[in-house]
Parts: sequence; structure tokens; C-alpha cells
Amino acid sequence: MDTIRKNLDALFYPKAVAVIGASDKVGKVGHTVVANMISAGYKGQLIPVNPKAAEIQGLKVVHEIADLPRDLDLAVITVPRPAVMPSLKALADIGVHSVIVITAGFKEMDKEGYNLEKEMAELCNERGIALVGPNCLGMINTGSDVNASFAAGYPIKGNIAFFSQSGALCTAILDWALGENIGFSKFISLGNKAVISEAHMLEYLGRDEETKVVLGYIENVTQGQEFLKQAEIVSREKPVIMVKAGTTAAGAKAASSHTGAIAGSDAAYSAAFKKTGVIRVTDVASLFEFAQAFSTQPLPAGPNLAIVTNAGGSGIMAADATEKSKLTMARISNETVEKLRAVLPPFAALYNPIDVGGDAPATRYKDAMEILAADPMIHALMIMVSPTASAQIIETAEAIIEVAKKTDKPIFACYMGKMRVAPGQRMLQEAGIPCYAFPESSIHSLEAMYLYSNWRQKGVPDYPVMPGNKAKVRALFDEVRAAGATEVVEFQAQKVLSAYNLPTPRTALAQSSDEAVAAAESIGYPVVLKIASPQISHKSDVGGVKVNLQDADTVRKMFTDITNRAQRLRPDAHITGCLVQEMAPKGVKEIIIGFKRDDQFGPLIMFGLGGIYVEVLKDIAFWLAPLSREDATGIIREIKSYLLLKGVRGEAPVNFEALEHILLSMSQLAVDFPEIVEADFNPVLVNSEKAIVADVRLTLAS
Ligand code: ADP
Ligand code: MG
Repeated sequence: MDTIRKNLDALFYPKAVAVIGASDKVGKVGHTVVANMISAGYKGQLIPVNPKAAEIQGLKVVHEIADLPRDLDLAVITVPRPAVMPSLKALADIGVHSVIVITAGFKEMDKEGYNLEKEMAELCNERGIALVGPNCLGMINTGSDVNASFAAGYPIKGNIAFFSQSGALCTAILDWALGENIGFSKFISLGNKAVISEAHMLEYLGRDEETKVVLGYIENVTQGQEFLKQAEIVSREKPVIMVKAGTTAAGAKAASSHTGAIAGSDAAYSAAFKKTGVIRVTDVASLFEFAQAFSTQPLPAGPNLAIVTNAGGSGIMAADATEKSKLTMARISNETVEKLRAVLPPFAALYNPIDVGGDAPATRYKDAMEILAADPMIHALMIMVSPTASAQIIETAEAIIEVAKKTDKPIFACYMGKMRVAPGQRMLQEAGIPCYAFPESSIHSLEAMYLYSNWRQKGVPDYPVMPGNKAKVRALFDEVRAAGATEVVEFQAQKVLSAYNLPTPRTALAQSSDEAVAAAESIGYPVVLKIASPQISHKSDVGGVKVNLQDADTVRKMFTDITNRAQRLRPDAHITGCLVQEMAPKGVKEIIIGFKRDDQFGPLIMFGLGGIYVEVLKDIAFWLAPLSREDATGIIREIKSYLLLKGVRGEAPVNFEALEHILLSMSQLAVDFPEIVEADFNPVLVNSEKAIVADVRLTLAS
């Protein structure tokens, strides 16, 4: 692993590059790669490898891999599938440092391809070879004039790095970026990720001085824990912006047939990104809007945005979009208003949005911008230009560029329209001022910058260690397993909760109706009766829960009812008896708390409003374990029903600390016991005084 990491330098900055399967035939991949290397102006040693030709594209050919120089930095394999493994073995023998396998037809194709790919990965891991692909487009590094890809086109130099699981998307984005004049530092098509994964890329690009913003297109993550670790490290240094495809069920299906990978659940990805500060976008257009904003503008010091416009309508649209975001329309101080009044005509609007008038020349824009940029309560500026008859498209762009040079606040331009504004847009883009045709794009980008800046300021979270009696839980799980079960039902799981100081209602297990009555008397009426059977985990489904039982007669009768019915409906089940449980007081709110262990990212913790409407409302928030105290506070505030929990119409707020304690203790349980694949605390009943776990079910790995 460590050698592989070190060899990424050889991949990106090779002193010598061999193209295996180089060709003189236009249209062949082996031709394009050589041609691309030449036209990128590569200054190292470029060696075409081909068994027959003497010269390819003016370069002397090496006939056999064995004749290549020892410790070769990079080999690009373009030969057909059957020749890939033999080539790779020969390359390993000469001590190659890194390899790009462009050839397709591996795990994404058939069983044989899958096996070959596995063999490939094993060899590389053993020898420490940094292998990109197979089934990829290749790699471009504008910092070393390397174009080891068969892409049509070479990006301009810039400070954005892009890695992508889809090669086709790479070509589209490359073309688009050329059209938009967006520059790249590095461009990597990861393909099937047999060896080099997104985690490697994050780690490398995080340290790459030529890269200021990291972009990624991913369909699935293969090294979840490593990904989380690297993503967080990099996000603390520079923004990581990602598109995760395969979010819809149809998308997920397409993704799995596409690269032969199974897409993880979308909620887990969202939680993974949120935890690690990765900025998620939902489409490729936003990926680049964000990239432009982050790569050119400083982060805002706060949420206050001032908008300058020459048209009322567009200003209002922008203000609306701002209000819908996490940004705020800056309040313009009296002092600043007076300064604006002195330079703007009497009909100008001096409060945000600042309307400089449809006849505004560039100088008027400039005066207003300078005054606003100097106001410490304003954190960002957006300059909107509508192509009115008197609008000075170019001069205003020049003014914006000049003001931007003198301030450390982010400035966005919005040139509304297409034909007339195009020269201004282009000029701004080239000067590194994001300029979009619609205000929403600027506002989304700025909002993302503000949120990212907040995340970074929060610093590294502190994960509390919650006390728990592991030995007790372990013994209980052993007992469940010894009985051949993987479901831990309420009357068993309650012991787990107690071992982790999770609050439960007073409960007793009764094996006869007499015992049930005795328990009820000692707990105090009203009580709840619940079926207790290791085989019955959904108790209500068999009529196994009766709430609000007021007296001994009812308890006695219900005990018989419940046990008889359960036995009738589930003849397979061993009925232990009934739980007699303290009834929660009126007015409690039902919450659902639980987790599901994601294959890649570990325990995905869920928090939401419970009760009978949960399926309809789906008001649920997700977070990855372990939870920090801040996470526990945050997850509760994320759901819409938070407002209900805070209390409406004079209601007292629920005990939030009690809920946070449950979240943190459950997170600890999830971390301590990897064998718990699912946990369901449903419901957790909470009022202003306390929260109790009124039902619990755990599922162990089989
Ligand atoms: P199930 O196995 O069917 O999920 P539960 O133990 O969750 O059974 O009980 C079903 C419902 O009964 C709960 O969703 C809750 O509304 C109510 N309930 C359960 N226990 C209590 C209790 N101790 N106090 C008040 N209501 C309860
Ligand atoms: Mg339940």
C-alpha cells in the first residue's frame, strides 16, 4: 500500500513513459495515446512498444517489454484483453512503478474478466505498482505535460483536479471545460479501480500543490473507511466537490451494470459527505459552477450578501434566492447608505438589493462596489448586469475585476442574457470572476462556500466515549446465537440497553397471568403487556401489544389473550410469556432512532419522527457513527419535526439532552459491536422530562 502511494508520483510525473501496444494506425488507442503524449509537449522519454514496427510517429520502437529500461515510471497498456496480464507481468519484472490499463473487458464484462482483474490487482498490490484502470480513459497532468489518455483534447492549465469513475463523462467534461475556458491541474479516469481508488486520489490530490479544488464523479466507493479518512483530511485543506451518481433506484441499476459495482445506499453517501466536509452536487453543471467559485474566490467570512443591480426585477429574484438559502441579505448600515447616497442618483435604491439604475455606467457600479466592499458587515458581493440599452458590458466587467483585485471578499457576477452579455461574461471568466447567466447559480455556489467555511471552522470533532458493559452484552449475544437466532427481541435487548445506560421503561417478564398481575401491581397501573418470544420481533403483527391496561382483571385476561393468539398465529414460536411494562405518560412524542450498518461506511444512524405517520412523512435524518456531541445535537435539528419537538402552542420542549444521550450511547454500541447489523429503537418516547426506549430490536450478522 505504501509503495503504491509513493508510486503515484511516478504516475503523475514520469521521467519515462512506455506505451504498450503503440501503433501508427490512426484511430487505434495505441496511436492516440502516443499522439496525445507528443502533442501535450511531454519532455521525458516516450517509448512506443510494438513487436513489429521499427518506428512509430517518429519515435524509435522497443519490441519487447523486457527491453524497456529498469524502474520505468509509467507504462500505458492498450493491448487487447488476453495480452494485458502477460504485459503486466513483464512490466512487473522490469520494476515498473505505475501502470494505466486502458483496455476494457474486465470485471464489467464477464466472469473471466472479473478473475483477470483480480489477478491484476493481486500482482500490483504485491509489487506495489500503482495501477489505474482497467477500463479507463487514462490520465492527464498539465503540470508535467503528460497526456496518457486517449481523450480528444487537452485541457488548459489550471488549479482544479478531476477524477472520475466514468470515462465517457471525462470526455464530455473535458470538452465542456475547453468551451468554458476552465483549466485543470490533473484529470484522472479511474475506470474499474482495481488498485487505485478514489481514496488514493483524494490523498494524493490533497497534497498536490498544483491543485486548489478537487472534483470527483463517483458511482460507488470501494474502500469506505479509507475514503472517509482521506476525504476529511483533504476537506480541511481544500474543497472536495463530488457528484455521486446512481442516486435513484434506476440510476443505481445503471451504475451496477456500468462498472460492475454495486452502488451503496444514497443516504449513506450523503452522510459520508456531510461528515467529511465533502461538498455534494447533484449534477455536472453545478460541479463546474462550484469548481469555478471555489477555485477563484476566497471563502466568505460570513453569510451576508450584498447585491448590486441595474434592474429591479433581477435584484428581487436574487434576493428571493438568497432568502431561500443559508445566506442572508446583508443589512446595509446607515453609514454605508449615506456613502452610497453621495455617489448614486436620487432614484437609486440604497438598500439591499442596491439598484444603481437602468442607465448605470460602469463608474457608478464601481463607486457602489467599492463602498460595499469596504463595509465590514458585508461578506460577499454579487454584481448583476442586465443588458439595458445603456449598459456598459465591457467597462462594467473591467470595474468588477478591478474591485475584486482590491478586496478579500468573494465577488460573483451575473450577466443576465446571452448574446449581448457574452463578451463581458468571457472577460470576467478569464479574469477569474465567476460569472453566470442566472443569479441562482451564484447564490448556490456562494452558499456552498459559506457552509464549507463553517464546517472547516468547526474543527476536528470530539467523540465522547460513552460507558457500556461490553462483557454483559457479549454474553447475551452468545446466548442468542447459541439458540440459533440472529434477532434480539425486546425482552432480550432490554438487557443490552441497560448495559449501555440507555433508559427503558420499568419492565418485568411474566410467565403466567398471576406473575403478570403481580408485576403490574408493583409497577403501578396503567401498564402495557407485550408478547415475549425470541421468534416474534414484530409484536403488534400478532396482536402482541396491549397498552393502557388499568387493572388486575384486564391484565389477567390480556395475558391469556395475547399468549393464545400469538401461539395460534405463530405455531413455530416459543412463547416465553409477556413483558409487563410501565405505560408512558400522555403527551409523549414518538421518535424513531436506529442504525443500519452500511457495507462501506459503517453504522448509518437514523433519527426521525416515529409513530403511525413515519412512513408517510419520512422525516428522517442520517449520520454516520461515531457521533460527536455536536453531531447528536445536529441530527435532531435536521428533521422538519424539530419544530414540533421544540413545542408548539405553549407546549414545553422535549428533553433534548435525553435524546442526545440515547443517540450517543447507541452510537457507542454500534462502534463496540460490529456484529450488530441493524438496530431499531422504535419508539423512543420523549416528553419535557425524559426519553425512554419503549421498544428495541437488534439484528446480528448471521
Ligand atoms: P412492535 O414490536 O409491534 O413494534 P412496540 O413495543 O413498539 O411493538 O409497541 C407498539 C406500540 O405501542 C408502540 O409503537 C407505541 O406506540 C406503543 N407502546 C409500546 N410501549 C409503550 C409504553 N411503554 N408506553 C406507551 N406506549 C407504548
Ligand atoms: Mg416498535
